[in-house]
Amino acid sequence: MSQTASRDAIVVGAGPNGLAAAITLARAGRSVLLVEAAATVGGGARSAELTQPGFLHDVCSAIHPLAVASPFFKGLSLREHGLEWIFPPAEAAHPFDDGPPVILERSVESTAQGLGPDGDAYREALSPLVRDAGRLLPDLLGPVVWPPPRHPLLMARFGVRAIASARRAARRLFRGERARGFFAGLAAHAVLPLESSFTASFGYFFALLGHASGWPMPRGGSGKIADALASCLKSLGGEIETGRRVASLDELPPARAVLLDLTPRQILGIVGPRLSARYRRALERYRYGPGAFKLDMGGRTRPARAPPPSTWGRRSTRSRPPSALPMSGGSRRGPT
Ligand SMILES: Cc1cc2nc3c(=O)[nH]c(=O)nc-3n(C[C@H](O)[C@H](O)[C@H](O)COP(=O)(O)OP(=O)(O)OC[C@H]3O[C@@H](n4cnc5c(N)ncnc54)[C@H](O)[C@@H]3O)c2cc1C
Repeated sequence: MSQTASRDAIVVGAGPNGLAAAITLARAGRSVLLVEAAATVGGGARSAELTQPGFLHDVCSAIHPLAVASPFFKGLSLREHGLEWIFPPAEAAHPFDDGPPVILERSVESTAQGLGPDGDAYREALSPLVRDAGRLLPDLLGPVVWPPPRHPLLMARFGVRAIASARRAARRLFRGERARGFFAGLAAHAVLPLESSFTASFGYFFALLGHASGWPMPRGGSGKIADALASCLKSLGGEIETGRRVASLDELPPARAVLLDLTPRQILGIVGPRLSARYRRALERYRYGPGAFKLDMGGRTRPARAPPPSTWGRRSTRSRPPSALPMSGGSRRGPT
């Protein structure tokens, strides 16, 4: 397309959501340009050599239960664009100072067994959700308001539990600290204080994802998700421009619509004067959530193969080599 012709849409920000927006437009036959400030697409789904040469680390996201369950991703054939999922032998481990970890496994039964006296309560809470996962997950992962959920009754049942805070739900469901701590760890994906309403939804949701579709990682790191989405977009005729930080809408080429995959303050900076005073105030009032960090390490030796999850609870955490625990971190590209 020539530089002066008007496109149907420009998307600013090539994180996974910006890429998804651009693909949706391109699939609908619209001409679309995706503009990204960084040298590579991906935003929070990028991989880079952060520690040592040859060690690829995921800069932000590493484990992708939402992507693998997403109806949108399922409709894209991303395998043809180089995306391959690795499903670990267990989905997640919640560590404790004074005992073995609680393991989230694909099987509700095996997970419940690791929760001791709270196993029955866990089975009772999760089994109905897992049974209905095929119908429930597309609604949970779909648009919030429109189109309306296809299974409103299931959503309502989920909503009744989800509305509580994680703290309240964990105390109501479980008696022991291990089950409560495990649930809190899952709910912490809300990135909100665990006393806040609706944080219980994240506890149920991430446990459900673990049992229904798994918590996989992309072979070669999260950047492979971005690469596959970018390849898909290009195959549909979409254009991508990296290394261009947009400071104002005025500097963009003509387009019928501009979509911003940015945070409220970034939007204020780029669009501010054009927005209504009311909307500007709403953006200014937006409070960012608590910070998050993760620890990435590059080791000298190849990590030991993890023992089967069923044996983890029987060993002392102190005697287990740390490398035997699955963890988010770097992956070595070449032979070690
Ligand atoms: C430490 C950490 C760990 C995480 N772990 C996981 C995980 O394991 N699994 C998971 O599913 N999620 C995880 N997440 C969340 C995930 O990274 C985000 O949900 C996701 O990246 C959001 O995508 P997005 O497209 O909305 O925004 P982003 O990924 O933030 O993308 C926004 C893009 O906009 C670009 N941009 C910004 N300003 C401009 C501008 N002015 N002009 C042009 N481009 C601009 C940025 O460079 C960026 O590429 C994690 C996040 C963090 C911080």
